[in-house]
Amino acid sequence: MSNSSKEIPYKIYLEENEMPTQWYNVRADMKKKPAPLLNPGTLKPMTFADLQPVFCDELVKQELDDTHAYIDIPQEIREFYKMYRPSPLVRAYCLEKKLGTPAKIYYKFEGNNTSGSHKLNSAIAQAYYAKKQGLKGVTTETGAGQWGTALSMACSYFDLDCKVYMVKVSYEQKPFRREVMRTYGASVTPSPSEHTAVGRKILQEHPGTSGSLGCAISEAVETATSLEGYRYVLGSVLSQVLLHQTVIGLEAKAALEKYNIQPDIIIGCAGGGSNLGGLISPFMGEKLRGEKDYKFIAVEPASCPSLTRGKYAYDFCDTGKVCPLAKMYTLGSGFIPSANHAGGLRYHGMSSILSELYDQGLMEARSVEQTEVFEAAEQFARVEGILPAPESSHAIRVAIDEALKCKETGEEKTIVFGLTGTGYFDMTAYQKYNDGDMSDYIPTDADLQVGFDGIPKFPGNEF
Ligand SMILES: *Cc1c(COP(=O)(O)O)cnc(C)c1O
Repeated sequence: MSNSSKEIPYKIYLEENEMPTQWYNVRADMKKKPAPLLNPGTLKPMTFADLQPVFCDELVKQELDDTHAYIDIPQEIREFYKMYRPSPLVRAYCLEKKLGTPAKIYYKFEGNNTSGSHKLNSAIAQAYYAKKQGLKGVTTETGAGQWGTALSMACSYFDLDCKVYMVKVSYEQKPFRREVMRTYGASVTPSPSEHTAVGRKILQEHPGTSGSLGCAISEAVETATSLEGYRYVLGSVLSQVLLHQTVIGLEAKAALEKYNIQPDIIIGCAGGGSNLGGLISPFMGEKLRGEKDYKFIAVEPASCPSLTRGKYAYDFCDTGKVCPLAKMYTLGSGFIPSANHAGGLRYHGMSSILSELYDQGLMEARSVEQTEVFEAAEQFARVEGILPAPESSHAIRVAIDEALKCKETGEEKTIVFGLTGTGYFDMTAYQKYNDGDMSDYIPTDADLQVGFDGIPKFPGNEF
């Protein structure tokens, strides 16, 4: 559908003065809003006062705001963004040629910073608000390590202490990630650990567990709320994170508009939903306002299929059940996914904004198996040069599938996908794939039922 007479370059960059100055809050344009977070004790919506002990004040405001469509990006954050943004929107000419598809494929590449992912977009915002509030430091969890790295970078920039609980399996598999974080001054603890009450409890119940994001979140929250001058920050799932990540979608939209390109399909991988939500938000806004139509596809691993096989219900955000209840597509907070190689996609739930959009039929979801994801990763790396993160490769898989469909039908669709990061720290996974040792684990219905049984039951939470 591209109707430009201008030649489209390999990379579309924005000028500094074309970069977004505001984030876009898609909730403002949703007629039916995402369900509010609930206080697990009272089952009433979480208020500012309930959330304030856990999160920074300004971030609580953003979390609760479902009416303001645009929120100013503070000058300090915009300046930091300029060090590694705008990120390029790349026309995948070489991939198109290799596939022999009439489809036009673009990807928005977020791997051009040391964290190797889009996570820095929210890390810097959260660190900024913590600093502005005069805090000493922040705590967090990290799975694959990208979020912990991003937060370490952001905290060192603003001179804040940073305590990271890293999912044990990643801590062991990715020692170099850990060292990057320590280089930026963070302290890194494998989770579950003996440092927290909740960690000790989880270890007692599941001795030898390789950990999960849900466990690590519980430990980080406990540490933040028991230390004076600390708050907890989260790298995904929350509406505030999705808001910060809209810088991806806003830049992508501005770049496409520069060349009059009209996308048909927008694809992203979905762990907690922040990059996908950030990428699609401005386009979804147009769809919600009835201005334009797009097909949005969320891609998740078949081993952790929250959208495609989960329940839409209120559930805990963490294994230790210390966080508020969020209404989302969930596999149950007790679900511990198999140790697949896309650590950033191993979360039991999904952003409540994306969950609601999916429930309203405004977005589709697909699950894909690990080996086919690495096939796509390899194909992409060989023609486009970038070695993609396993998480990002989920989006590549479906972008390729859609482009191959166009090859059959002869349709010249325009496909945009989010290439969230690079995979240099994932070489163990690539090694397994190269050696032919990679397996596809898909949970059975009975496996999933165990997780569903742990979803809290109360009137109004039928699923
Ligand atoms: C964390 C991560 C993801 C998944 O997180 P979302 O919040 O769903 O975006 C995807 N890709 C990379 C490279 C990541 O680091």
